[in-house]
Formats: sequence, structure tokens, C-alpha cells
Amino acid sequence: MERTLSIIKPDGVNRGLIGGVIKRLESSSLKILAMKMIWMTKPQAEGFYAVHKERPFFDSLTDFMTSGPVVVMVLEGENAIEKYRKLMGATDYKEAEEGTIRRDFATDIEKNVVHGSDSPESAAFEMGYFFNSFEIVG
Ligand code: GDP
Repeated sequence: MERTLSIIKPDGVNRGLIGGVIKRLESSSLKILAMKMIWMTKPQAEGFYAVHKERPFFDSLTDFMTSGPVVVMVLEGENAIEKYRKLMGATDYKEAEEGTIRRDFATDIEKNVVHGSDSPESAAFEMGYFFNSFEIVG
């Protein structure tokens, strides 16, 4: 069993896609162990995306991620990290496979509706960034 962090980004919340994303999660073998809505400050978003601080899109990405509320979740399942990244699809929705969340809902390489951890190390950091142990069920 593995755990991963999922975020429904501000574009997804603003466009009424929370239910659509959660429906796909609940139709998969991934289980939701924790969930809350938050509105990040710029320093909080910068801390979350610290690995990207040298990338040219860092400022734009952290502005976008603080432009409205997001829904953060902890998901659990076998190979949860890879399974959820498959459900999300490629970063650039134009390259994402048919039937993935990003292919179906994203409008832009940045406004791509969802985030998912990309390794066990980043999952551990990201889950700990938003949740304490009492908030994760199971
Ligand atoms: P992910 O793991 O698929 O989310 O992709 P990355 O870790 O490479 O990038 C993190 C996030 O930065 C992506 O989900 C996008 O929201 C954003 N992003 C990635 N590449 C670009 C880019 O070339 N331009 C802009 N503006 N944003 C990007």
C-alpha cells in the first residue's frame, strides 16, 4: 500500500470540477484518507513548490496556486503514486491520454486542474506539508 498527495487546483475548484475529480477517484481503486479545502498564501505555495524555484514558471505557478481555494487530499492504494498520475495524465493536457483528468478538463499547461506527487519522497514531504497524523484516517 502506498499514499500520495492530490490537489484540485484553483482552476478545478473555480470551474466546479471538485465532484468530477472525486468521482474519478472513487471509481478507481484509490481510497481518500484525508481531504480539506484551503487557500494558500504565496509563501505557502512557494514552500510547497520549492523544488521548482529555479524554473522560469515558478512565479506564475505560485501566483496561480494562490489565486483561489484548492482541495488537498491524501489517497491510498497499491502503487497509488503511479496510479493517480495515470488518472491525471501528462502535465501538458495536449499530450495527455484520452480519458485522463487533464485531457478532459485542463485548459492550459499551468492550469491543469490537478496535482499528484511524483515519488515516494515527494509524497512524504507533500502529505506532511498539509496534514498532521490526526487528520489522516486509517
Ligand atoms: P506535474 O508533476 O505533472 O504537475 O508537472 P511539474 O512538476 O513538471 O510541474 C508542476 C506544475 O507546474 C504543473 O502541474 C503545471 O501547473 C506547472 N507547469 C509545468 N510546466 C510548465 C510550463 O512550461 N509553463 C507553465 N506556465 N507552467 C508549467
